[in-house]
Amino acid sequence: MRTARFSLRPFALGAAAALLTGALSGCHMFHRGHAETGGKPKATLAGQVQPMLPVDLTKVQPNEAGLVPILEYHNLVKSLKTKDYDYPASAFRADIQWLYDHNYRPVSLHDYALGKIDCPAGMSPVILTFDDALRGQFNYTADGKIDPDCAVGILDDFHAKHPDWPLKGTFFVLTDVGTTLPPPFYQAQYAQGKMDYIVKEGYEIGNHTIHHLAGIKHWPDARVEAELAGAVANIHHYEPSYVVDTLAMPYGVFPKNKKLVISGASGGVTYHNLCALKAGADPAASPMGRDFDNKNFNPYYLPRIIPGAGKYTIHYWLELMEKQKALKYVSDGDPNTYTVNTIARGQINLARLKNGRFHLRTYNGTQVVAGNEVR
Ligand SMILES: [Zn+2]
Repeated sequence: MRTARFSLRPFALGAAAALLTGALSGCHMFHRGHAETGGKPKATLAGQVQPMLPVDLTKVQPNEAGLVPILEYHNLVKSLKTKDYDYPASAFRADIQWLYDHNYRPVSLHDYALGKIDCPAGMSPVILTFDDALRGQFNYTADGKIDPDCAVGILDDFHAKHPDWPLKGTFFVLTDVGTTLPPPFYQAQYAQGKMDYIVKEGYEIGNHTIHHLAGIKHWPDARVEAELAGAVANIHHYEPSYVVDTLAMPYGVFPKNKKLVISGASGGVTYHNLCALKAGADPAASPMGRDFDNKNFNPYYLPRIIPGAGKYTIHYWLELMEKQKALKYVSDGDPNTYTVNTIARGQINLARLKNGRFHLRTYNGTQVVAGNEVR
């Protein structure tokens, strides 16, 4: 399966050769999105049409058909010697710095699933995800302070030093409600405070099932729905009004009835997800584009990338996307408009774009050849 991937689609190579490779300069305006308000916008794809914002195409050269890396972290540890899914805190810090230096900025998974990528002009979106609510993701030290080597501590510190790196990321949590699992993030006395902090700071909380079992692929529908609705109820135990609308399947294993990852109900709790994430192992598509296998964006089967330096890990993909610039999503700074080079236009899913009431803007080199053409 992996060998097929390097019969790289013609569009990728063709566009890579054709796109200019000049260094992109800087962020114009920093979008805080809905983090400032502490709430989420209504989850609707077909919203009101927003005006298209102007952008300096010569300078920015947007490529909103490009790939979006969704990074998948588990536990962070202080030691450089790691096992299984552990990852050194120092390596995580280096990843964030690398992303920043290469013009990536984190965006909300919720917004991405809706197609509303809120990323400054000239910057590239990256989505951070953290699975299993492990202690190295959010830890308090003995003196009651946020551990500077846990993910939240590292991101807080990075944001303080680089205010144009917003606090965005999704925690796919497991909870101790009705289970024998540890409390979220493993410190009972801080569990509620940590969940509150995540929501308050603008991070997102996602569904990772109740019991984290690969057997879900053999389960009857009612049991799958009980598992997914139950996980929402468990999150509501901590955050009663939080809208849980993103899902990551443990081990990337999906139920037989794939419709159940979209919506369902059990025990008086209904759920509706905007997206469902796998465990590996490619960059994801633009919401209006195609993935690395040239398949249309499917929000209910989104690939993620695990950390490390091996094949199909974060470094592998991010370095490939630097070498082949046309693979990289470059934002026009306007969440309501998709801007692409004429060469990449064929990758845009026009039906989806129209359905979502987005604008399309194409340009040829430094010239706008068409604007707002589907409205
Ligand atoms: Zn997991």
